[in-house]
Amino acid sequence: MSNTLEFLMQNLRKRRIEKVLVENDLYLLWKDGMEARLPYFDLRDACPCALCVNELTGEKILKSSDIRQDIQPSRSEFVGNYALRFYWNDGHDSGIYNFRMLRELCEHTLSKS
Ligand SMILES: [Zn+2]
Repeated sequence: MSNTLEFLMQNLRKRRIEKVLVENDLYLLWKDGMEARLPYFDLRDACPCALCVNELTGEKILKSSDIRQDIQPSRSEFVGNYALRFYWNDGHDSGIYNFRMLRELCEHTLSKS
């Protein structure tokens, strides 16, 4: 892990955030040193796209019970310098998770533990 961390710290000079997919979590390291692991299930559950959340009302359409227990991204990529996109193993890939939202998820996760 220390080599990975070193690599991440180097990359952080270019970006506000770095990510690693570990087991069942997305590990995020922020430029200010905050780190958190977000479970894939929670991430998929929080998908902000128009299929999962009603754009007009902000109401959640996606049912948590419809999400596979073995949900995980087959890959993920940065969108510009403001967001992450996941390609989930349920075929869903339209969610753009902006950094502000990811930060809130991290803070929420940390406050729970
Ligand atoms: Zn979605």
